[in-house]
Amino acid sequence: MPDDLPILFDFPSSPEAAVIEGQRGERELPVVPLINTVLFPHMLTPLFVGRERSVTAVEEAMESDRTILVIAQREQDADDVGPNELFGVGVEAHIQRVLKMPDGSTSIVVQGRQRMRVIDFVQERPMLRARAMPIYGEEEKSIAIEAMMRAVLSLFERVVKLSRTLPDDSYIMAMNVDEPGWLADLIASTLPLDVSRRQEILETIDPEERLRRLSIMLTQELDVLELESRIHTQVQKEVDKSQREFFLREQMKAIQRELGQEDPLQRELLELRDKIQIGDMPEKVQLKATEELERMEAMSPASPEYSVIRTYLDWLLDLPWTNQTEDTNDLIEAAHTLDRNHYGLPKIKERILEFMAVRQLAGARLKSPILCFVGPPGVGKTSLGRSIAEALGRHFARISLGGIHDEAEIRGHRRTYIGALPGRIIKTMKDTGTINPVFMLDEIDKLGSDFRGDPASALLEVLDPEQNNAFADHYLDVHYDLSKVMFITTANLLDPIPPALRDRMEVIHLPGYTEQEKLQIARQFLVPKQLAANGLTRTEDTGLRTETENPLLSPQSSVLSTDLQFSESALRQLIGSYTYEAGVRNLEREIGAICRKVARRVAEGRPFPRVVRPALLAKYLGPAHRGHGVAELRDEIGVATGLSWTANGGDIMAIEVSVMEGKGALTLTGQLGEVMRESAQAALSFARANARRLGIDERRFDKTDIHIHVPEGAVPKDGPSAGITLATALISALSSQAIKHDVAMTGEITLRGRVLPVGGIKEKILGAHRAGIRTVILPRDNERDLAEVPGQVKRKLAFVYVDHMDDVIAGALCAPPATDTVVLKRDSKREKAIKIGA
Ligand code: ADP
Repeated sequence: MPDDLPILFDFPSSPEAAVIEGQRGERELPVVPLINTVLFPHMLTPLFVGRERSVTAVEEAMESDRTILVIAQREQDADDVGPNELFGVGVEAHIQRVLKMPDGSTSIVVQGRQRMRVIDFVQERPMLRARAMPIYGEEEKSIAIEAMMRAVLSLFERVVKLSRTLPDDSYIMAMNVDEPGWLADLIASTLPLDVSRRQEILETIDPEERLRRLSIMLTQELDVLELESRIHTQVQKEVDKSQREFFLREQMKAIQRELGQEDPLQRELLELRDKIQIGDMPEKVQLKATEELERMEAMSPASPEYSVIRTYLDWLLDLPWTNQTEDTNDLIEAAHTLDRNHYGLPKIKERILEFMAVRQLAGARLKSPILCFVGPPGVGKTSLGRSIAEALGRHFARISLGGIHDEAEIRGHRRTYIGALPGRIIKTMKDTGTINPVFMLDEIDKLGSDFRGDPASALLEVLDPEQNNAFADHYLDVHYDLSKVMFITTANLLDPIPPALRDRMEVIHLPGYTEQEKLQIARQFLVPKQLAANGLTRTEDTGLRTETENPLLSPQSSVLSTDLQFSESALRQLIGSYTYEAGVRNLEREIGAICRKVARRVAEGRPFPRVVRPALLAKYLGPAHRGHGVAELRDEIGVATGLSWTANGGDIMAIEVSVMEGKGALTLTGQLGEVMRESAQAALSFARANARRLGIDERRFDKTDIHIHVPEGAVPKDGPSAGITLATALISALSSQAIKHDVAMTGEITLRGRVLPVGGIKEKILGAHRAGIRTVILPRDNERDLAEVPGQVKRKLAFVYVDHMDDVIAGALCAPPATDTVVLKRDSKREKAIKIGA
């Protein structure tokens, strides 16, 4: 079977010569069908002859003049073809050689001579034999043909250049052919055309037309090749780049090996492996780290995943797993540390020392309790935490939980998220570098919770001694042991802390300081601290300003040995008129502000004061800005003073009632919450029910509108503890009896007038004291809370314990009656939320 073997070319001396070798005129020839190829005149090609009829045809030809007729078959996969399966035009070919193959098959080398048109088939077996007629085209070369030849040649040249299969000399051969038909045949047999298109060229007799069709085919071929080459170039570029990198890297490795250096990448991986091996990770973590490292080794360093794993491994390596500080067990030294840093707070210091003592005895078996410091800002919660760490010889860490809504802030994001990191707990553990720091969680009462998960539940896990030895951070993916950490939480208010969390903690209240305590804190701690911070201390002998050798840090040597002193009256005025707070934060700030002003004068070489006296305060700080929280100046009708409890500590609060002609409507203003509104209703009902006894004209209720207002109107207020204050103000307004201006009260009221106990007594009493109140009316059941109030405050106040509203009235109202008018007072604004007791 003739197969698609490559066509070879030879160069007969001239085309005419080749034709002449064929015979003109009609003749009968044995036929050999061609699969997958078309033979053109002049072309020399080997053909594999397999099919029986073809073999017979070749044998027949060999016995006569070695001439056969080769015709392409229409269907390339048809096997035993007859006349109908062959094209009508073929080529007369001369068998140059017959080769017997080792396997018994036959190959022949043939050369095409001339185009022949089949007239008919005269025989089909044992071989095909056809009667055929040579076809000749016009051989004259016109200018148009010449132009066409050049065009075809130039197209062919480009095709050869782009093609990766055509040899370059195929163009040279074409260049040397100057007969148009032959040129077309030569190029057609060279191009990778399919059989039907080659046959089309073969059957096109007119050379000019043949060239035209060929030029179309060449153009198409060129398009394909150009596209192919573009794609190829692109692919090649990519491949080249990565191959180049690969070779360069290999080369670099080889060079480094020669120079006795290692591949930095390899070194990095080896170092990581070493660190994982010799680090202090627990076995499970080590396994996980090794696993990740192996994944990393199999990756290209350019892949993003590589650096993700790298960061992850760094986290595992940087976290402390066993490193811990040795606790100091010297209780006397610890007590000393606490005293050195904090004034007063005896109960709290005692509790801390007890804790240390128990731990000394119980050793590691003791699960650290979780302390929760509750109190207004600036009472020293954070600094106490620091002192505890110092006393224990542990590191101190602190995070603020205020406003955290997202559980991921505590627990981290899974590594599948881009840019994922561990949560704050793990971050802080990494920063402290030990597994047993004192860890302060600030503002635990300000935790939020929403659709992003509940951070409180994550915190539960952190704070629960049963669970926190296996804390699960989403990023870390391995458990982390927090059981050695001493957690301390802080809060301004206890109420907002989720009950489940509250249960786990030992609450220690820091109610705020009295004026006297503040004075001591200022003298012994705040002033020296601020002087040092502002470079205003001076060592006597050298005259050098220094912060390190600060003699002021010991309380005894404080104010006297410095350049700058604060007179007691100035400090008292700062406390009383410039700050209004339960803690000492603003006080410290104001002292700092004065120190800065003095420091500037010193630095500028201007005269500066040696002693800060009250007169200087107005100059440096401006006029005193305290305008409220002070007891009323006169007894008034319809204005009662209540006691409130806010995140900033205790405070007083005026409740104003105004009555006017109307139809018995009750108006409440000042952003009162539901509970407080109900308290007001209850107070009114009590007043109505007991009108006669209280000296109120019963008929007034229907003809009077009542307006209750609680300043500061913009601050929301709620809670039941204003009950007796509301009732007192109402009764005063309705009965026209004035209320003593220096009396303040707190307590819940029932419909029958019973007075129930409320919370926050200690803070409220401190607030009343600050405000200059003389008498405080309290529910009898709250009497026991007074034990916690400092003696110096108690001595300044008179306390009236009440069971019933009648006792309140007796204690609060002045002797009856005055006029029917009510004086309304205005209070200036204050920037804090008031929450009135529990
Ligand atoms: P909190 O955490 O309760 O808001 P801080 O611990 O930040 O309060 O205290 C504010 C400032 O007041 C700190 O400089 C602190 O040292 C100081 N301070 C508070 N209480 C005392 C105290 N009893 N003795 C000495 N300094 C105190």
